[in-house]
Amino acid sequence: MSQQNPVFIPGPTNIPDRLRLAMQVQTLDHRAPNFVETFAPVLEHTKRVFGTTSGQVITFPASGTGGWEASITNTLSPGDAVLVARYGMFSHRWIDLCQRHGLDVRIIECPWGSGAPANKFAEALAADKAHEIKAVLVTHNETATGVRSDIAAVRRAMDASTHPAMLFVDCVSSLASMPFAFDDWGVDIAVSGSQKGFMLATGMAILCVSPKALAAMETAQLPSTFFDFRDMMNANASGGFPYTPPLQLIYGMRESLKMLFEEGLDNVYARHFRLAEGVRKATSAWGLELVAQSPDLYSDTVSAIYVPDGFDSNALTDHAFNAYGVSFGIGLGEMNGKAFRIGHLGSLTDVMVLSGLATIEMAMADLDYPIELGRGVAAAQEYFRAGRATPMQSAA
Ligand SMILES: *Cc1c(COP(=O)(O)O)cnc(C)c1O
Repeated sequence: MSQQNPVFIPGPTNIPDRLRLAMQVQTLDHRAPNFVETFAPVLEHTKRVFGTTSGQVITFPASGTGGWEASITNTLSPGDAVLVARYGMFSHRWIDLCQRHGLDVRIIECPWGSGAPANKFAEALAADKAHEIKAVLVTHNETATGVRSDIAAVRRAMDASTHPAMLFVDCVSSLASMPFAFDDWGVDIAVSGSQKGFMLATGMAILCVSPKALAAMETAQLPSTFFDFRDMMNANASGGFPYTPPLQLIYGMRESLKMLFEEGLDNVYARHFRLAEGVRKATSAWGLELVAQSPDLYSDTVSAIYVPDGFDSNALTDHAFNAYGVSFGIGLGEMNGKAFRIGHLGSLTDVMVLSGLATIEMAMADLDYPIELGRGVAAAQEYFRAGRATPMQSAA
């Protein structure tokens, strides 16, 4: 049992005791056979979570940002064009990273709260007769706005324009919580991390790379050393690492995969949908609006919720922490002061989500929000009672 309240930030997420213990290992020689025996299956089993048989899983000791950088530096050259839509803080940061690497970043500006604009991608690709665009970059789950984009629709748009660009997807806050289909969606590089759906400490960037993206390494001119795919794959081929591996995280990852497969990936996704629906029921019972513009965009891992006019979302999240010791996500970028976020991913049960809803409801009541204490919690309770869940192992 944890000594603290759960966090309701959308990552890093709560670490279940089982994974904290799995990460408690004494130093082992990473050149010894038992490391090889541990690590190789971790890479293999992670493929199932990405939904791939053809992709190669590559990890680095880094956060998700390092994964973004690896995706770019291994496959592209200075001046290459990439096509990307900006609709939140995370798509914005990936754009910034590309610009700092000297790429020709072609940006489609979209309202925050909307998702990846497949039609606009199709237009831009059709207009690019010279095939200057080498990759389309999409944030699957925009954590700043609680928007999940339709990657299959982006792939269809790319196919319709018969453009050879690669498809890079940020799935840091969706992988292992919402369905991901690397092969079916024709993704070329997917970027994730250890500290969200995998419920681990921060420190491992987890990527999946297609044969097409691996082939792009042959011509890529951006420099890569620490994040070099080739060095990592060569070392991984014999079960090793090109430098000192994050041993404790690899042990954690092995256990995390066990937990996910024991629950069953479909059950994991169903649980995240149920938790998210509970939060959405509460939101509408409070009379508040989600930042996500329409139900097809609703994220099952994070909800960004507008505060009423005249209220400051930062004051709300500050008060929830100071008065009740519970962390919620602040509004990022354009949403600063306007929206707060409830993270509902990773190791969470219905009961834990109810505690978060009850807390933010108390904080809103304390700050004289026009809500009636208990209404949001009751709406979620009714929803959870109706679809009664079996007690979750991840709460153990
Ligand atoms: C958390 C997150 C990242 C990665 O951030 P790091 O702090 O570098 O791990 C990237 N993209 C999205 C959508 C995220 O939610």
